[in-house]
Amino acid sequence: MRLGLFGGTFNPIHIGHLRAAEEIREKIGLDRVVFIPSAIPPHKNIPLPITASDRLEMVRRAVADNPFFEVSEVEIQRQGPSYTVETLQYFRKKRGLQTELFFIIGMDAFLEINTWKSYGELFELSHFVVLARPGSPHALGEFLAGHIASGYQHDPVKKRYCHQELRTVYFRDVTSLDISSTGIRGLVNRGSSIRYLVPKTVAEYIISKGKYR
Ligand code: ATP
Ligand code: MG
Repeated sequence: MRLGLFGGTFNPIHIGHLRAAEEIREKIGLDRVVFIPSAIPPHKNIPLPITASDRLEMVRRAVADNPFFEVSEVEIQRQGPSYTVETLQYFRKKRGLQTELFFIIGMDAFLEINTWKSYGELFELSHFVVLARPGSPHALGEFLAGHIASGYQHDPVKKRYCHQELRTVYFRDVTSLDISSTGIRGLVNRGSSIRYLVPKTVAEYIISKGKYR
């Protein structure tokens, strides 16, 4: 079993997230992708009127029609801030050795991973799939050597970095959709349309509940 894990604030989830997950599922050959909305993100301040259960419900609605996608409440149910290392330990323990974990992450977020709790351990627990995002530089090899560990071997054909002791870091381009949750919140706040940027069911949730106004 090859299990994708896609963490994020998802405030709100948008088609940039969904399309990236779908392309990575196909390209890496994942059996499933689990979306994991974070609780209190250590790196961002969430505007108050949006609760964790709002974000969770929007992710639920967004993935409902894709049989390969599912949602995990593990971070939202855990006490305190969400640390990816604890989430990866949880999935490792829960799924056992038959399951290979692939943590999916945007390049922008990956280039800050050396500020995350116990970041070295992340690379023992799970493979990483790093997504290119519009405007992000592709300095992955330099970043790994400078901030994670020496000894990564670049395999340009398979677009990955392999290591003797650590799991593999894959690098994949996905269709560039320059959409962000920040941008969507701004549109709603200004009373503009978010149609075609988020799934219809998510737009309906946001508008009907008056979120991000
Ligand atoms: P915000 O604007 O609040 O930062 P965001 O749109 O970046 O939100 P996050 O929840 O922070 O969304 O992102 C979760 C993950 O999805 C991160 O790894 C991020 O890099 C990635 N991601 C976000 N937007 C896109 C996109 N348009 N295409 C591909 N990956 C994305
Ligand atoms: Mg972001």
